[in-house]
Amino acid sequence: MTAKATIWHATVLTLFPEIFPGPLGLSLAGRALASGLWALEARDIRDSATDRHRSVDDTPAGGGPGMVLRADVLAAAIDAAEIDPSRPRLLMSPRGRPLTQARIVELAEGPGPLIVCGRFEGVDQRVIDARTLEEISIGDYVLSGGEIAALALIDACVRLLPGVMGKQESGADESFSDNLLEYPQYTRPQLFEGRPIPDILTSGDHARVAAWRRAEAEALTKARRPDLWQARQKAPKSTTGP
Ligand code: SAH
Repeated sequence: MTAKATIWHATVLTLFPEIFPGPLGLSLAGRALASGLWALEARDIRDSATDRHRSVDDTPAGGGPGMVLRADVLAAAIDAAEIDPSRPRLLMSPRGRPLTQARIVELAEGPGPLIVCGRFEGVDQRVIDARTLEEISIGDYVLSGGEIAALALIDACVRLLPGVMGKQESGADESFSDNLLEYPQYTRPQLFEGRPIPDILTSGDHARVAAWRRAEAEALTKARRPDLWQARQKAPKSTTGP
């Protein structure tokens, strides 16, 4: 197989392909994109419009405000992308299942998704059903389009790809691995506006540092995210987490 066939690849269907790669063209993700560690294809949904006006949307059946992306145009755009059937087909949607780090890890380990970005009032239900799109939400608030949500999802995946982050271990004890928020971080200067770095962190005693970090992570998680803390009590403990 060629490298191209195996590389992690995001295919984005959007009315605004010029939004991409946007911030994904910078910093770690951008360098990795430039060096071919992952690939991004942004396809214009409007290229699949068939009428004279190249229309992609129409008024909602049953009335109401706004416009709805047409099922026929969107289905044609999905089909034209000719993605391998093994790749996940996602629709960014506030009605979707909330995105988690666990789903990001799965997506990063796979071949890379096709991502449909909605606009206006959303998309015709029939294309969601006919092309079995998995609806994914990035939070309980409403964006004006799926593009920013897609950028967030792709960014979270790309930083997990081998070779993208400086140190491979960086991902292992981050927030949400093992349902824990990350411990507080410090760096120089040793004293900032009268606040020192906690002594333990500069003691050189790795076991005590690890124990301190673990206790801080647990206290933060209990205080801020009782939902994660509860899930942690139920889930089997991993051997690789903090
Ligand atoms: N009328 C819809 C909102 C449409 S917002 C509703 O009430 O459910 C327009 C598009 O922005 C959506 O189709 C989706 O692609 C995207 N979007 C908005 N909020 C989002 C969120 N929280 N997560 C993921 N995508 C979102």
